Amino acid sequence: MNPTALVAIVFAPMTSLQSYVCGQWTAGSGDPVALHDPSTEAIIGDVRPGGVDFAATVAHARTVGGPALRALTFQQRGQILKGLSKVIHEHRDELIEIAGRNGGNTRGDAKFDLDGASGTLAYYAHLSKELPETPWLTDGAGTQLGRTARFWSEHVMLPRPGVALHINAFNFPAWGMGEKLACSILAGMPVVSKAGTASGMLAWRVSQLLVASGLLPEGSFQFLAGSVAKMVDHMQAMDVVAFTGSARTGARIRSNPACIENSVRVNIEADSINSAVLGPDCDIDDDTFTQFITNLHQDITQKAGQKCTAVRRILVPKDKLDDFKEQLIDRLESTRIGNALDGDSRMGPVASKAQLDDVRGGIETLQAECDTVIGGPEAMDRPGYFVKPTLLQARDNDAAILHKLEVFGPCATILPYDGKAETAIDLINRGGGCLVASAYSDDKKWLRELVTGIAPWHGRVWVGSEKTMGHALGPGAVLPGSIHGGPGRAGGGEELGGLRGLTPYLQRTAVQGDRAIVGRNFGVEE
Ligand code: NAP
Repeated sequence: MNPTALVAIVFAPMTSLQSYVCGQWTAGSGDPVALHDPSTEAIIGDVRPGGVDFAATVAHARTVGGPALRALTFQQRGQILKGLSKVIHEHRDELIEIAGRNGGNTRGDAKFDLDGASGTLAYYAHLSKELPETPWLTDGAGTQLGRTARFWSEHVMLPRPGVALHINAFNFPAWGMGEKLACSILAGMPVVSKAGTASGMLAWRVSQLLVASGLLPEGSFQFLAGSVAKMVDHMQAMDVVAFTGSARTGARIRSNPACIENSVRVNIEADSINSAVLGPDCDIDDDTFTQFITNLHQDITQKAGQKCTAVRRILVPKDKLDDFKEQLIDRLESTRIGNALDGDSRMGPVASKAQLDDVRGGIETLQAECDTVIGGPEAMDRPGYFVKPTLLQARDNDAAILHKLEVFGPCATILPYDGKAETAIDLINRGGGCLVASAYSDDKKWLRELVTGIAPWHGRVWVGSEKTMGHALGPGAVLPGSIHGGPGRAGGGEELGGLRGLTPYLQRTAVQGDRAIVGRNFGVEE
């Protein structure tokens, strides 16, 4: 391990996170919640839940940030995003260190998060170039409603004059914040961004850098380090809540009386029991098989399995089971687990003691219906919140818990199946609605049947075949050009997907009248 890094861990000064609200950095109040280095369990900082005037914060966004953003064109807002992307990239090394210290991210994990943030901001900056100079976007072609064009309808989409409350999970402090911010700011809605507490130090530092850049108009970006639960009570008709986290918290936000009474737009990105299925045509020497193993290994170990898109259920044809297990076990056993700040580590700890307890308890619950192939819930012989990479195998197709319980750590379960698409469809859809499913095959007929059967239950279906080898990022990567989100237990939300990502922050309105007046761009030359 790098000795300088060790000194930094042991002698790290205590950092008390602050919120940025109403134009200034504000200390929290109330009992401190400790922030840990999950590799060593050392306390390195804290967050205090109170101290923020929620009514004033949302009012500042609505009355100062919103008008300032709406006064800019889409292209000008895109230029802001471009600048923010650069700021994150320029401070990459410092931010990687923080992600290691407070999030337990290896260098690779931290880059994934940070480059995801800067890349998504840059993507939306680029997208802004193709948007019109008008304050609105037009949705589709206009429609003649009467016998003549004197009665015409045009659909326009304008930024909602409210505040976008972004609540993020602990696992992607930078990317989660960046992807929501990019869509909101480009659409023209001011943001209050709340980080998951356990790994909040990275989001806090990124926020400091974004604010210090001076690129964001006053009131267009505020950051909350402490508790956000009571802010949801302040939501009004033009506001948006974009939440990422557990299904349990998502349900609480969705059922908040202020959100219900005011028809607040609520987008929920919740947890998901994602699956990967190997087609019956794949043999051990095929590139498609190799991708299956490589991507599974990455999903189980990257961020210690704390990715909402990570594969939790692995469907393998019974006649390929031995080859499959041998290869994946080999890869998992050779993964170097260690202190996230050690450059040699390929898998770090989970983010907090609460996560550690949750993951161990979850593996024990799954063991009631599954055999342990490798790993398990037992403590590792070292300090820190480490979990062994764990592979389980369902005893039979009646096992039910594995379709319902998300173990948010380095753990996945194998489901042997008969290779038929219809069996795979039945098993995969028992997940009740998921973010992503991946299928590995070069048999178009089999794929067509499978994809048709599972697509309605998923936000994304990723197909790995011989030709994608070396050309495609794995199914765990959330790319801004495709939608992210899923139906049912995954929350029913949708984010990203190019310009689709702006729609939660825009109000679509049908404007009707004489085409010469309400027609495209209100008669203003395009
Ligand atoms: P969580 O406990 O639900 O917390 C998520 C966020 O909600 C945190 O910022 C949390 O703040 C905040 N929160 C807690 N109680 C709240 C309340 N009553 N009202 C409003 N906000 C509240 O989830 P997590 O443990 O951070 O994240 C892990 C989960 O997120 C996993 O289940 C994972 O699958 C899911 N996830 C989903 C996606 C996706 O895109 N679908 C992406 C990443 C993660 P505090 O941290 O201060 O409690």
